[in-house]
Amino acid sequence: MRGRGGERQRQWLSALVLAGLVFGSAAGLPHPDEALTACASDGTEVASQSRNPYDKFRRASYSNEGLYSEQEEIRLGEELHKQLQKEQKLVRDPLLTRYVQQLGERLARVSKRPDLDYHFFIIEDPTVNAFALPGGYVYAHTGLLATVESESELASVLGHEIGHVVARHGLKNFKRAQKYQFIVGLINLGIGAVGGESQAARLGQTASQLLAAGIFTKHSRDAEREADFLGLHTMYAAGYDPRGMIAMFEKLERLSRQNPDLLGFVFRTHPPASERIRNTQAEITDHLTLDPRLVRDTPAFPLMKRRLRELGFAQNGGSSAWRRRRLR
Ligand SMILES: [Zn+2]
Repeated sequence: MRGRGGERQRQWLSALVLAGLVFGSAAGLPHPDEALTACASDGTEVASQSRNPYDKFRRASYSNEGLYSEQEEIRLGEELHKQLQKEQKLVRDPLLTRYVQQLGERLARVSKRPDLDYHFFIIEDPTVNAFALPGGYVYAHTGLLATVESESELASVLGHEIGHVVARHGLKNFKRAQKYQFIVGLINLGIGAVGGESQAARLGQTASQLLAAGIFTKHSRDAEREADFLGLHTMYAAGYDPRGMIAMFEKLERLSRQNPDLLGFVFRTHPPASERIRNTQAEITDHLTLDPRLVRDTPAFPLMKRRLRELGFAQNGGSSAWRRRRLR
């Protein structure tokens, strides 16, 4: 189905052996109900610190088994996206949206979940942030696009978000959040299309509550490490220089020191950037080869940056232009 491109990608993949990536899509704050799990796994890590912290993810395989079916996951994602569109301002500029969609697809096709339809969106928001919802919905803030200085940095963030979709982290959180389960029943009944107004309103309200509660965006630190691992290997398999992930973490570290208000909720709560840099560096040294053909930028990257400037999104939230906008 993927022809020669697919063959090449498979070669890349086997050459690389999946390593792991970068950014977190959602805050690393453990859920109350998973705090114990997080503590237990943190404790284990202390005992085995000399080992590569990504080793436990290396042989993982991923599926919807024990969760909801992929079809249900996709319908849930659609419903959440519908609600999110009402609450956030999406950027509709064709050049910017095409750029992010194409980059995202290039990554997704070499991920461990290559056959899902992915949808990448840009949210008009000056904070540096990105997150993913079930069913392949991935969002990047304009503040992130303004902050990255190479396509490989952006690829590391999108790769990390794709990693959350691959590992079904949001879906697993959702499955644990008992009180929201009924939304799947409503969606399966086709309430959005044929239900009465009150049922449709209930569906929208629940989707809104799910988004606000961060069910799909707050993950344990171990889930964030797994997304870092998956993202690193995904960007590498797509031909990007994996050091872009380190450069991105260094930016996040600087931001968290100099201007923490600019950091979106997602990055604020991830494992400390210093740890992520260390893990990524170790993984690159032990498992990847820095071939000179690895890509840092494509010709599309400076065009994206230019368009961002033309539309007034080129600065992140620290700029006075953004502060004026936000006051309105
Ligand atoms: Zn994440």
